[in-house]
Amino acid sequence: MMNSNSIIGPKSDIYQSLFDYNHDACYALDLNGKFILVNDAAAELVGYDKQELLQMSFYELMNLNEAEAATQYFKRVLEGDSERFNISIHKKDGKALDLFITAVPIWVEGKIEGVVGMVRDVTERNTLETMLNGQNHVLEMIAKGAALPDVLAEIIRLVEFVSDDGICSIYLTEQDGTSLVHASSPSIPAAYTKQINHLPIGPESGAAAAAAYHKRPIIVSDIANDPLWKKHRDIAVKCGLRASWSTPVFNSQEEPIAVFSIYYNQPCEPTEADIQLIEKAVHLTSLAVHHYQAEETINFMAFYDELTGLPKRRLFDEKATEAIKQHTDKPQQAIAFMYLDLDRFKIINDTLGHNMGDLVLEHVARRLLSAIREEDTASRQGGDEFALLLIDVSKQEAASIAQRIINVLEEPLIVDGNEVFVTTSLGISLYPMDGETMVDLLRKADVAMYKAKHKGRNNYQFYDAVLDKELYDRHEIEMELRKALEKGEFELHYQPIINLSTNTIVGAESLLRWKNSTLGHVGPDRFIPIAEETGMIVPIGEWILNTACRQLKAWEQEGLNLSVAVNISIRQFYKKNLAFVIADALNETGINPAHLTIEITESMTMDVETASKILRELKDLGVNISIDDFGTGYSSLSYLKTFPIDSLKIDQSFVRDIANSNCDQNIATAILLMAHNLGLNVIAEGVETTDQLDILRKYQCNCAQGYLFSKPLPAEEFIKLLENSY
Ligand code: C2E
Ligand code: MG
Ligand code: MG
Repeated sequence: MMNSNSIIGPKSDIYQSLFDYNHDACYALDLNGKFILVNDAAAELVGYDKQELLQMSFYELMNLNEAEAATQYFKRVLEGDSERFNISIHKKDGKALDLFITAVPIWVEGKIEGVVGMVRDVTERNTLETMLNGQNHVLEMIAKGAALPDVLAEIIRLVEFVSDDGICSIYLTEQDGTSLVHASSPSIPAAYTKQINHLPIGPESGAAAAAAYHKRPIIVSDIANDPLWKKHRDIAVKCGLRASWSTPVFNSQEEPIAVFSIYYNQPCEPTEADIQLIEKAVHLTSLAVHHYQAEETINFMAFYDELTGLPKRRLFDEKATEAIKQHTDKPQQAIAFMYLDLDRFKIINDTLGHNMGDLVLEHVARRLLSAIREEDTASRQGGDEFALLLIDVSKQEAASIAQRIINVLEEPLIVDGNEVFVTTSLGISLYPMDGETMVDLLRKADVAMYKAKHKGRNNYQFYDAVLDKELYDRHEIEMELRKALEKGEFELHYQPIINLSTNTIVGAESLLRWKNSTLGHVGPDRFIPIAEETGMIVPIGEWILNTACRQLKAWEQEGLNLSVAVNISIRQFYKKNLAFVIADALNETGINPAHLTIEITESMTMDVETASKILRELKDLGVNISIDDFGTGYSSLSYLKTFPIDSLKIDQSFVRDIANSNCDQNIATAILLMAHNLGLNVIAEGVETTDQLDILRKYQCNCAQGYLFSKPLPAEEFIKLLENSY
């Protein structure tokens, strides 16, 4: 190593003074980059003592990612240039320093022997700049209406960036003001945040809760030895959290609305700079929370599900949209959307009660989290439905995570001392293969889940465009159907029923029509079975009954003597309160019960005993009962005797061929004969031609209905038809 005096040469004293007394850090390096001279300011700046530094090379201070650039500067100076540059290094204690360096070659007798550098510490300036830029970014996010959790996460990112190795979390005060919930803590180990949530505000449930309680910052310099951390100490220490400084965030009434906490992995106390940084963070947090509370768009609960603590749909949607935006095309890499619900959860709810149902959901949420990776998101979409977002996975990985979820859920849950078994059906769609938008992909995952259910539950299925077209349509209908009543998309049409002896319209069959805002007109043959299966037919059926009765009332008030037939589905029929629902509709409108006909189908009467009982109840209300689609079921005419019915409707499949098929003519005429024997009124459905009508007349069919007379019409048009026919 060169002797320092030999470099500086004969004017060494002057240079030495210039060097030693310079307030800025100065150093000299030999040709290998080793320190050969450092002044006190330099030693102080980096936290090593001079002797230590003189054993080191400047490379050892470099951050790894800056080493290459530093080497280039060094080389150029050794070639005779002088250089001015910014560079980051780390101090002895690991903290980062941003430096502005002027480096010049050392010439000794015409040869370059090393480098002298003069250093200015610009860390603070950079920090200030970063803070300023960061603050602006946060404010911009607020202004643009970003979600509160995203804004809070951005505040945290900023503070974590500026502070050396602090990691932060922001808690929000719950609406009732009694507890704190995690709002954002992107760097805190999930094992910790999962366990520590819902902290009751008070002096003894940890530092954050105490900060909110005492309304002042609480500095815990060593978590392991502080009584405030008694309860959560083990988990905190296990997760590497050793110091915590919590500062309350107030609203204008001086109530704590949030707590900003910063944690370190070793015992420590805040410096003046830390305090300033925290003040900034608290200020930003307060601005953000205020803004969203003022906007009333948000309280924390708008984003997180209270029961499970999982993100709700809204936050999930935002995360998913963001993930799609960030996704860069890599072969085999996808974003997987998973949709799942618990098989037969309703049974758990119904048999064990809602409280147990809730507990089950809580357990399920925890298990879901245990089955996915840290970077994935699980959300509760409502009820027993969950959606998951898996970033950067291959199809195989998505499949194995799905299988893992199925496996962990299969294990019996011990809930409140009971062993509960749940299984799940899970659907998966992949971005970008299956769709482009979050909405589309989620929907497709849902469709795939539907497929999984059809495959016998407790399995997962990938979305498959070809196979799922039908399911998808069906599913879409189901989704739209759920909103149809509320959106007022239903209408009743009325198809005239003609008395064949008087040739007059004696009544009408009400037929449901649905015009959906996205699907357009959907025929009852497509949506009624779905409404049946999902149980939606019950509320829809009530609407039909009430609407038909109100229409009848209007017609009665106009002095018209018409009857209206209303179709009842099997689900409605076996619902205990059917008679009450009909009685209600009758009472409310005050119509003549004899004007109302209830149409049921043969299949509903399979359980003869129960069916007779129900039909009696209906009959007691004074309404008429008609058997629809007669001939298509287990047509034993003998059971008809046991039922209190008024009329039969011959199914249109017999009427269709009545004029050219002997067989159908025989069935139709046999029905007519027997029905008349039993004193029943017969109505032929689907009459389209005069030939058909002639034969029906010949066999004394009482009434007819069909396109030959009229299609089902909206009420106003039906009335016009009626007026014209008189
Ligand atoms: P349905 O009760 O047997 O109704 C008769 C069906 O035959 C109606 O079809 C009607 O438009 C159709 N139709 C009437 N005349 C002719 C004709 O001359 N030729 C042909 N080819 N068809 C004719 P729509 O309205 O599509 O209803 C289909 C089925 O959907 C109904 O069969 C009924 O089972 C169910 N449905 C319709 N409205 C309701 C309702 O309000 N409640 C319930 N539960 N089911 C309903
Ligand atoms: Mg009918
Ligand atoms: Mg029919």
